[in-house]
Amino acid sequence: MGVWLRLKPRSPLLIGRLKADSAYLVTLPYIPGRVVRGAWAEDRRMAGNAATISAAARQLQIWNFHPIREGMAYSLPLPLSAWTCKRHPGFRPQGHGVLDSLIPRWVYRLLEEGARPPVPFQIVCDVCEDRMTPVGGYYGVSAGGGRARISVPLQFQTKVALSRPRRAAMEGMLYQVTAIAPQEDLAFVGRVHGPPNLIREVEAALTQVGVGALTRRGYGQVQVGRGDPPAYPGLRERVEQFNEIFRKVYEDLARLVPGAPLPEGTFFTIDLLAPGVFREDPLGPPVLWPTLELGGRTLRPVFCITRPTLVGGWSTAWGLPKPVDLAASPGSAYGFRWDPGWGPLDFKALERLEETGVGERTDEGFGELMVCHPFHLEVEPV
Ligand SMILES: [Zn+2]
Repeated sequence: MGVWLRLKPRSPLLIGRLKADSAYLVTLPYIPGRVVRGAWAEDRRMAGNAATISAAARQLQIWNFHPIREGMAYSLPLPLSAWTCKRHPGFRPQGHGVLDSLIPRWVYRLLEEGARPPVPFQIVCDVCEDRMTPVGGYYGVSAGGGRARISVPLQFQTKVALSRPRRAAMEGMLYQVTAIAPQEDLAFVGRVHGPPNLIREVEAALTQVGVGALTRRGYGQVQVGRGDPPAYPGLRERVEQFNEIFRKVYEDLARLVPGAPLPEGTFFTIDLLAPGVFREDPLGPPVLWPTLELGGRTLRPVFCITRPTLVGGWSTAWGLPKPVDLAASPGSAYGFRWDPGWGPLDFKALERLEETGVGERTDEGFGELMVCHPFHLEVEPV
């Protein structure tokens, strides 16, 4: 299971991302595992134990720390399949609602395999009938089931370069900073796997060193605590609910759009909570989808909603850049079908997949995933 840590910002956090023109430091809205790992490595280095870092690091899996507000049962990045009304965006009752388009789109694709449907696929707002448009970012679910977007508060600061004229241009670029602003009810929650003594070391390092960039200038201070696992339904329950809704949507749509019969088997998704770096062949080009090894079979997705992004990586603070890879964006959703002829679907193996992640550079937090994101069930606006 691992241990869930909760980080409360006590000063602005600057979580490294350098824009293409290098003129600004703009924070990410979450704390990647590699940044937490960087704080731990820095702490060991300062204690004079640099030589021991790489051996110990292999025992530690640090996932990403996602934003949450006090009182929420859990928070997740919305899948790329989440849509909202173009005219009145947002969750109900403030907006016209947010729904998930993955199951209807996947079902429609299956129907299309039988015959060209007479109507094109579209989803309109059921309040105002305007078009719907993709919506991203994080959302949280309260204990009572209410949903809300989680906006990560930002603060901007322009710092003036010191009086060394020849270097001023370069230093000036470094001092335009957008950081996460601390707020009383804002925290970041993430999972760490490893031996208990190493996990305690990570907690101590976060307290002492802080996270992200400019920690020596007061940025990156966090209060570290342990938390309960997020209260979403268990994996098996999520897969079962997903299949229930999938069949219901198929029956509804098949009445309007006669097409191919529903294939047998269990449908499930792999949803990225962080960027994923994938290659089908270790020396081949990057691809935007994962390949799963499950029950002795190699599975490729039969349905994808994804888009590309670029991922770099930095050592602690603003050290040397790591190679830039083409990656699949967080929120990417991949549909798989498990054929009943292959035997029962191995839920334990799917749970292990959630612990190990998919693709490359998982030690940096890439490829963090969830099987059957609970938001896919929301085929009606919420
Ligand atoms: Zn509307």
